[in-house]
Amino acid sequence: MTTHGFETKAIHVKTPKQDVHGAIKFPIYAGAAFAFESAEAIEDAFAFRKPAHAYSRVTNPTVEAFERKINALEDGRGAIAVASGMAAITNAVLNLVKQGENIVSSDAIFGNTYSLFVHTLKGLGIETRFFDVDKPDSLSKLMDDKTRVLFLETISNPKMNVPDIKKLADMAHEKNIAVIVDSTVTTPYLFTGRPAGADVVIHSSTKLISGGATGIGGVITDAGNNNWSGFPALKPYAKFGKWAFLGRLRSEVYRNTGACMSPHIAYLHSLGLETLALRVEKTCENTLKTAEFLKGQDQVISVSYPGLLDSKYHEIAKKLFKNRFGGVISFRLLNREKCFDFINRLKLIKRASNLGDNTSLVIHPASTIFHEFSEKEKEAMGVTENLIRLSVGIETVDDLISDILQAME
Ligand SMILES: *Cc1c(COP(=O)(O)O)cnc(C)c1O
Repeated sequence: MTTHGFETKAIHVKTPKQDVHGAIKFPIYAGAAFAFESAEAIEDAFAFRKPAHAYSRVTNPTVEAFERKINALEDGRGAIAVASGMAAITNAVLNLVKQGENIVSSDAIFGNTYSLFVHTLKGLGIETRFFDVDKPDSLSKLMDDKTRVLFLETISNPKMNVPDIKKLADMAHEKNIAVIVDSTVTTPYLFTGRPAGADVVIHSSTKLISGGATGIGGVITDAGNNNWSGFPALKPYAKFGKWAFLGRLRSEVYRNTGACMSPHIAYLHSLGLETLALRVEKTCENTLKTAEFLKGQDQVISVSYPGLLDSKYHEIAKKLFKNRFGGVISFRLLNREKCFDFINRLKLIKRASNLGDNTSLVIHPASTIFHEFSEKEKEAMGVTENLIRLSVGIETVDDLISDILQAME
């Protein structure tokens, strides 16, 4: 691994083969299949004896270039790009957990991830046990000899809580439980799995990585902390040694479930990585200013953002995320009606269910992303009727603040 800085690596990571024309941006290899010189050469490729691209659902040169870049930025062991953030979570979990086993997860997670756990995986005989990351001791009671994964988000939204990842990971590792961290909102620029004790880091690259919502994608990185020896689901893959997680994923779970990243998306998301550091810096700066402004407004009952000095997550977030706090704020107005009024009056900030775009986005989580859940479930996830989520973009911050101000008047 080079000793280059993040911004340099995001631009200069070497691809295994250079483009024949010397194209500076690694080209899009859109095709499905690649031809070989001989039957022996194709046999070698299938046996993983010689790395080669055979079929784009399994590997593709443009997707590989993106995977290499991500892995360099994560300082990981290797990365595999997938069709979406949800595909990343599904693949990572199915690679480690089977029927009759269980997962422990933070109760404040992305709505679709929650639904994957309580509906889809439950139907496959995989149970999820939820705990409150503010009460780390409650984790101990939930882990047993069938627990395979601890699942966490770096900064959950809209609850905006920040787990003490290192402490929780240490608790899990004592029981040979793998730690998967969803770092979508923090990106590889603010958070790397290795020092924090994560075994696997996943991203929805749809968000900040994409360069501004340019398309749906995801990525799974083996953070390099776990040698996987004796991990139950990976025992048949012991021949891969410490590469067992990636080996099983590539040769079985990823290949068979078919949620591969398209080369077109890999091209766009690689481009996004080149400017990630600049955009995340700007977003974090804008978000802190916006959060401070919201705090001073009479109509605003509370503001959750780990960058605020009085946030109970401020100290831990500062340590984990290099003194930056991400681009998402949640805040409360009097009631649902006030929230809808405010959202409808915004002129610049768009009403949309995404985050990490260049443009600022607002949503009322209770009536949208979390609409399928019961009142009790919503409450556990911190989703109340008077809550608004704001994803702050990279516009001129004064324009954002003016828009918020006119919508509150
Ligand atoms: C958006 C998001 C996902 C899902 O990603 P998709 O690319 O939409 O599938 C997962 N986790 C978090 C934290 C997200 O914000």
